[in-house]
Amino acid sequence: MTRKWISLLITILIAVLLAVIATKPPGPKGDQISADMFSSGRAMADVRVIAAKPHPTGSAENAKVRSYLRDRMEAMGLEVVVSQSKLQPRSLKRLNQWSGENKTEQDIFNVIGTLRGKDSSKPAILLMAHHDTVWGSPGAADDTIGIAAIFEIVRALKIQGNYERDLIVLLTDGEELGLSGAVNFFSDNPMSNRVGAIINFEARGGGGTANMFQTSAGNGNAMRLFARSVKRPSASSLSTFVYSVLPNDTDLTPALKKDYVAYNIANIGRAEYYHSPKITPNALEQATLQHMGSQGLDLTRALLSVQALPEKRADATFFDVFGFFTLIYSPFWGWVFLALALVLGMLSLERTEARTDLGRKTDLAKGAVRMMLFLGIGAVLLYGLNWVSGAGRAADYYDRLAAISKLEVMAAFLCFGMIVLIFGRRTLSSNEKLGAALPIFILAIAGQALAPTATYFMSIPIMIFCAVIWLSKQRFGGKLTGVMTIILAAVVAGYMLGLGHLLMLGIGPDMPSAVILPAAIFALILLPNFPAISRRSASLMLSIGFGLSLVMALWIRLDPIAATIPVY
Ligand SMILES: [Zn+2]
Repeated sequence: MTRKWISLLITILIAVLLAVIATKPPGPKGDQISADMFSSGRAMADVRVIAAKPHPTGSAENAKVRSYLRDRMEAMGLEVVVSQSKLQPRSLKRLNQWSGENKTEQDIFNVIGTLRGKDSSKPAILLMAHHDTVWGSPGAADDTIGIAAIFEIVRALKIQGNYERDLIVLLTDGEELGLSGAVNFFSDNPMSNRVGAIINFEARGGGGTANMFQTSAGNGNAMRLFARSVKRPSASSLSTFVYSVLPNDTDLTPALKKDYVAYNIANIGRAEYYHSPKITPNALEQATLQHMGSQGLDLTRALLSVQALPEKRADATFFDVFGFFTLIYSPFWGWVFLALALVLGMLSLERTEARTDLGRKTDLAKGAVRMMLFLGIGAVLLYGLNWVSGAGRAADYYDRLAAISKLEVMAAFLCFGMIVLIFGRRTLSSNEKLGAALPIFILAIAGQALAPTATYFMSIPIMIFCAVIWLSKQRFGGKLTGVMTIILAAVVAGYMLGLGHLLMLGIGPDMPSAVILPAAIFALILLPNFPAISRRSASLMLSIGFGLSLVMALWIRLDPIAATIPVY
């Protein structure tokens, strides 16, 4: 029994370590690193100037920022034009609400710079960020981080110089007011016809990893280029899928109506700083800027250097492996993984010999019911706890964003309680464990049919789970098989922890129930090494899990409105 406990603890320990590595951006780099590399230390100088004060559209501060941007771009050798247009009427209403004025029109100004390459007739690469902020926020993250990243990317690129095609920098106005600058650029500005590929940089928070979360349609080749060139990536076809079903927009939305190769990179960590008056240059997490810029630099360099830009090809399945590299393959492989899971599962089934041995025959169904109860009860309880914590129509959107870390702790305690309740009070037979995988297997088949690029997080773990069960029944290998099963389980469990974190950041305040799925896969992969827990300690553990999750929910509800919420 103690051996099982040790195996379980080692598995969880490695899993937590992997999850931390995956969800933390690599450290910031000072200005002592080589000149052709991205340095957040160098880029911070721009952040300090641009985000010194709030600079919303139409303000005197915005005019000051624009002239700084123009000077900086000209000093870097870009040909700069400032393109003037009008704010959309609908957006004007919002600006008047912010300022308390009653303007009947408002000019907006996109700042655009071009760096010439060998052949200006080739489709150019466009780097995009917006220079306006919301009312009352210095906007060190949203979107100064994007501008500072672009400037440092251009500086680093110029060290080598002489690229195949032009690089265009587009710093839009009025993003916070209905994406006005981007809408006008992509509908009216002839320069938009010279563009072949776009990278947009955005922020919905003051920290965390920078994630490539949206692409143009038919991204197979575009993502293969990304996978080849970006060294410390954070990207997944699951997040592109989740984002595509959410009602959010960025400056890339109007661009995607045209036929560009496009990538969207943003950070969503430390969400309490979104549109906050407190997001000053000092509050910005420098490692996030480093992560955004280094991925942007790798990708821009590759796009500037290829002979022909990636053509459209069927969407690929891709995900970063704990931030070390991007794994990419055709979504069809998902079927192969599921078929392998089925074969390994069948091979591992224990057949009953005695006809009277009803117990073993029904074990598969019993295991499946357990997993369905886990998913069902878990989702309902998470929904209920979120309601207790104060979610709902009347809740302040930004206050809920500020509560995400606490919501995460709440969800973690609840999932812990659920694991003990459903899987911890009795040792499961081998067939029961296989049965527990059945509902996930069926969900994975449905996912593979409906959203094949988003289903890797089920198909691969199910295959690994069946492999672990099969391995644990083999007589070869001895200790080596044991070590292998621990490593395989830890990799899956670690991925699920990281995914749960990203899901809570992305949709936690609205739909925390979504994390029950990664929690279920986390529990499943630990089952082969699950030790028996005495009834008494199990009861104690699940009361602690459920009790503390309720305490967290009540704490979030009784907490005063966060000091970081916007002023408008
Ligand atoms: Zn923004």
